[in-house]
Amino acid sequence: MNLGAFMKRSVEQYYATRDPFGVEGDFTTAPEISQMFGEMIGIWIVDLWMQMGKPELDIIEFGPGRGTLMADIIRVTTKETTINFYFIENSPTLKEKQKTAVPQAIWVNTLNDIQSKNPCIIIGNEFLDALPIEQIKRNDKGWQKRRVLDESFDWEKAEDELLILLPQATQSNEIYEVAPERLSIIKQCQNYLTQRTGAALFIDYGHLKSHHGDTLQAIKNHEYVDPLKTAGDADLTAHVDFDALTRILELPNHLTTQRQFLLNLGIKHRAAALSKKKDVSADLLRLIAPDQMGELFKVLCFYKGESIKPAGF
Ligand code: SAH
Repeated sequence: MNLGAFMKRSVEQYYATRDPFGVEGDFTTAPEISQMFGEMIGIWIVDLWMQMGKPELDIIEFGPGRGTLMADIIRVTTKETTINFYFIENSPTLKEKQKTAVPQAIWVNTLNDIQSKNPCIIIGNEFLDALPIEQIKRNDKGWQKRRVLDESFDWEKAEDELLILLPQATQSNEIYEVAPERLSIIKQCQNYLTQRTGAALFIDYGHLKSHHGDTLQAIKNHEYVDPLKTAGDADLTAHVDFDALTRILELPNHLTTQRQFLLNLGIKHRAAALSKKKDVSADLLRLIAPDQMGELFKVLCFYKGESIKPAGF
């Protein structure tokens, strides 16, 4: 089976059957670490909404997990305006959690299901890393694609559709990762924005410049495990090549680290205010320190609208 098909099946099984987040679960995400993360994105949205002339707004989230990010955004934004919340989620278990966190949300399967032409904000935190990738390399047989057998890997001829996604310069015998499904989601968002006004914001671990290397990883109980042996029972992901995403974008876009984005938006001021009631210094460091999430995680924004200038970059 293709690596991508294997990943897709594992990820679906994994999320369909559990809530994996937090200390008790397999891994923790930024919104689960601290309310500051969602609040910063909330004020980022309020700023854009003001730039857009304070319209009725749609906020659409891909892969909302427990719904925590959106609940934090709502605390910051809804006092000011009318907002419609859309969730795109395929795990029935997590949909139930999301209903508790954000009862007013509307669930859709794809962007195409949304009829509204309202100005919009699209967000996704740790969503793109869960989408399937293919790994390819060039050797004396030409370009080969990784295939999954029973608990082992193998190589077979790679199709041209994958090769056109490679960066311009490549080296023999190195593994390159390409992700047609990620590119497809980014293109859908771009088309959606092109017919409206608004911005998309995707946050994830990955690199600013395309390069080679195997980043497929499986995490169980906060530890790395063998991706082949835990199919459907560990969180299977790969780093996001943001360079590959920006190569296909036609809309204006910005890319930076999570650290820079959150600092530019003023997270230290929010931390200072919160610290009057509780100690948030360790949470702040987790989000922004260069050796924690701060530099591994990147923030990509692309947008459409004459008057729009997204903050944070
Ligand atoms: N954004 C949340 C959760 C990240 S985990 C947070 O930051 O905490 C990845 C999320 O994407 C989960 O909600 C998972 O069920 C969802 N997901 C994974 N693949 C998906 C797909 N193909 N379509 C829709 N949702 C998907």
